[in-house]
Amino acid sequence: MNYYTQKNGKLVCLLCHHYCHLQEGQTGICGVNTNVGDKIACQVYGYLAALNIDPIEKKPLYHFLPASKSLSLGTVGCNFHCAFCQNWGISQEKNIKTGQYLSPNDIVKLALNKGCQSISYTYNEPTIFYPYAKDIALEAKKYNIKSVYVSNGYESREVVEDMKGVIEAVNIDLKTFNEAYYKKLGGELARVLENLKAFVNNGIWVEVTTLVVPSKNDSKEEFEAIASFIKNELGAHVPWHISAFHPDFKERTLPATSFESLKQAYTIGKKVGLNYVYMGNINVENPTVCSVCQEVLLVREGFKVIQNNLQKGLCPKCAKPLEGVFL
Ligand code: SF4
Repeated sequence: MNYYTQKNGKLVCLLCHHYCHLQEGQTGICGVNTNVGDKIACQVYGYLAALNIDPIEKKPLYHFLPASKSLSLGTVGCNFHCAFCQNWGISQEKNIKTGQYLSPNDIVKLALNKGCQSISYTYNEPTIFYPYAKDIALEAKKYNIKSVYVSNGYESREVVEDMKGVIEAVNIDLKTFNEAYYKKLGGELARVLENLKAFVNNGIWVEVTTLVVPSKNDSKEEFEAIASFIKNELGAHVPWHISAFHPDFKERTLPATSFESLKQAYTIGKKVGLNYVYMGNINVENPTVCSVCQEVLLVREGFKVIQNNLQKGLCPKCAKPLEGVFL
């Protein structure tokens, strides 16, 4: 795909739904894509702000290569500005450290050396560095290493289509079902919902996360709306991770999410008909159970899988395949 186009003497960035119109020298909302005359340069290409080996469960992805390691990387910058960002130290940072350049080839070699079955583009919003992520993903494919996107779901239509066949799994933050609140965070609810549907239709494995922020998105009605959207538009098999907020960034006066609030979201999700609802960030273990016979399939302790009863991706009792991507 083309990462930018020309319109009325400006370059238009096609990486996310903001579609920033940039004059020469101007940088977009994300702080990292800049009009440098004849093109838009992704200034963080090759320059990481974070690089770790994480369990895939930490993304969180619970139905994608369970118990595997994922080389996880992120840069500075973001196209949103959520007041409750739990990664604001890099997402809102504007200073790009260009000390060490890591080529796509370097990243893939590292993943191979460390025995990682996937590479995750995470920590900050990967859409803003899609040219880099895509080059890594294409190189990784040669070695059967898969690519995972942990994103706010505000990709441009062009990127969503381009991700088909490039990225194997996504975890998308569905932050709220309130249009006005989405605007405050920096996006539009409708676009995130459309992109979620497109990912599912394009055959990418999708899991959804909602960070439950007290007084902001924790009403019964909002939980019902989010769970119903997942069930009706994405499918009952799509896992919903409801995650506890801890005071951070500009939201330091709010309390941490209570267990009762997460439990309410969990109960609503199950009542609406979602097969897989997981509470996160609150020291509760959520085993994966078969949606037909309730047999326990995967047991975790924190991010560690301590029991995997799947037999070639099937329930050992009733042989129903667990939805997801398994070896
Ligand atoms: S990635 Fe999004 S925010 Fe950044 S310049 Fe492109 S359109 Fe603008």
